[in-house]
Amino acid sequence: MKGQEAAFERSGVSGMNLRGGAWTPARSGRTLEVKSPYTGRALGSVPDSDAEDVDDVALAAAAAFPAWAATPLKERVRPLQRFSEIVTRNENELSMLVSRESGKTPAEALGGIRRGLEVVEFAVSLPNVDRGGALDVSRGVTCEYRREPLGVVAGITPFNFPAMVPMWMFPIALAVGNAFILKPSEKVPLSACRLGEWLLEAGLPPGLFSLVHGGRGTVEALVDHPLVRAVGFVGSTAVARAVHSRATALGKRALCLGGAKNHLVVAPDADEALTVKGVVDSFTGCAGQRCMAASVLVVVGEAERFVDKIVEAAQKLELGKTMGALIDPSARERLRAAIDTAEREGARVVLDGRTVKAPAGCGGGNWLGPTVLDGVLPDMSCARVELFGPVLSVIHVSTIDQALALEQSSEYGNALSVFTTSGAVARYVAERATSGMVGVNVGVPVPRDPFSFGGTKASKFGQGDMTGPSGVELWSNLKKITTKWALSPDANWMS
Ligand code: NAD
Repeated sequence: MKGQEAAFERSGVSGMNLRGGAWTPARSGRTLEVKSPYTGRALGSVPDSDAEDVDDVALAAAAAFPAWAATPLKERVRPLQRFSEIVTRNENELSMLVSRESGKTPAEALGGIRRGLEVVEFAVSLPNVDRGGALDVSRGVTCEYRREPLGVVAGITPFNFPAMVPMWMFPIALAVGNAFILKPSEKVPLSACRLGEWLLEAGLPPGLFSLVHGGRGTVEALVDHPLVRAVGFVGSTAVARAVHSRATALGKRALCLGGAKNHLVVAPDADEALTVKGVVDSFTGCAGQRCMAASVLVVVGEAERFVDKIVEAAQKLELGKTMGALIDPSARERLRAAIDTAEREGARVVLDGRTVKAPAGCGGGNWLGPTVLDGVLPDMSCARVELFGPVLSVIHVSTIDQALALEQSSEYGNALSVFTTSGAVARYVAERATSGMVGVNVGVPVPRDPFSFGGTKASKFGQGDMTGPSGVELWSNLKKITTKWALSPDANWMS
C-alpha cells in the first residue's frame, strides 16, 4: 500500500470539472467525497455538478468543436499519439491511482490501462484504416463517403475501470472530430482527472475533452442537454436501460452497456491447468467486479473433479496482495447477504470469503475473500442475479446442451467461455451461445482492438459495439456525396 500512498501524494490530482481547458468547481460549491476501498479513508472530493455546470461545460465544448471538426484527421490523431506516450511513461503512477480509488491491485490496474491504450492506438490508426470509399457508379458520376463528427458527445462510465472504460470512448470520439464530455463514476473520479491533465499536456485544444463530475442528476442534465448529440454509457443494467430510453426519447444516439451474468462451461475433457487458472483468475480478478468475470461455473459430467482444484487455488489468494477490495461498504454488505441467501436456499459454501480477515492496517476497507457456492440450482438467485463480486456459483449438469440452456435462458448476454480440448465441442458451444463475447479456454474473453466490445440482451441497449470499427460508427455519421462534372452519354435516372 506504501507505493500507492506515495504515488497519490505525488500525482497532485485536481478533483475538479474540466471546462474549456480550465479546472473549475461546481457553481453551487457542493462536493462529493471519494473514499479508499482499501482503508475507508477519504482520498479527496470532486464537484457535485448540477444542470448549470453541465450547461457551462457543454457551451465550452460546443465552442471548441467547429475548429476541431475542420482539422484533418491526420492532424487530429497527433495529440492522441502524444497522450498515449505520456500515459505509457506514467503508467505506474496511473495504475497506483486507479488501484487506490477503485480497490484493484496495481497489477490489475495496469492491465486495464494497457487495454485502454489499445483503443487509443486504434484511434491513432484511423487515417490508415478508415479512408472511406469512392466508386464511379455511372460514366462521369462518382459516389463517395465522407465521415463527419456529430458535435458534442458524452460518455458516462462506471466505477470498476476508472481509466480503461473512459478510454473505450474518448479516443475514437475525438479522433473522428467530436468534442467529448466525460462524466466519470463519482466513486472513482480522480484517474479521469489525470487523463484530462495529460490530454491537455499532449496538446489537445481546450474544450475538446471536458469533465463534469456528479451523480444521477448530473447524468440526467447531460443526457437532456440540447447540445449533446450522442451518449455512450457503461454501468448497471437498470441505469443503462434508463439512460438509453431517456436519450433515444430525445432523438439522440445512445449505446448503453449494462450488467452481466457470465457462464463458464467446463467440459469433461478440459485441460486441468488451463481451466483452473482461467476460472480462478476470472471470478477473483478485480475482486469479481468485472462485467466479464465468471459468475456461474457449469460443470458437465465428470468435470466436477475440477471444483476442488478451483477451491484450492482460490483459497491461496491473499487479500490486499493478489486480490483487491470491493468498491464500498454497501457492495460488501450486498454480497454477504447474497451468500447468506444462497446458503438458505440450499447451496453449499465450499469456500467462504465472509470469514477472511482484512489485511493489516486496512480494517476500515471493504473486504470479502473468494467464495465458491456448490450445488447451486438454476432457479436460485445466485444463479440468476448479477452479484459483481468474487463469488462463483457452481451448477452441475450432464450434457453440453444442458449447460448451453442455462446461458441461453439468462437475462444477460455479455460472455460465455467453454473449457475443452475438443474443437468440435468449442465450435458447437460458440455457435449456440447467445452472449456477444465467447471464449474458448479463455476465462475473461474480452475482445482486443480492433475487435469491438459489446454484449447482447440486457447487457447492451442500442446498436453496434463500443470499441473498434463499431466505435467509429457510434461517434460519427457517413455522408454520401454523388458528383457529376459534365454531361455523359449514358443517361439514366440520375441524369
Ligand atoms: P452504475 O450503473 O451504478 O453507475 C454507472 C454510471 O451511471 C456512474 O457514472 C453513475 O454516476 C451513473 N448513475 C448511477 N445511477 C444513476 C441513475 N439512477 N441515473 C443516471 N445515472 C446514474 O454502475 P457501477 O456500479 O458504477 O458499475 C458496475 C456495473 O457496471 C455492473 O453492473 C457491471 O456489470 C457494469 N459494467 C458493464 C460493462 C460492460 O461493458 N457491459 C463494463 C463495466 C461495468
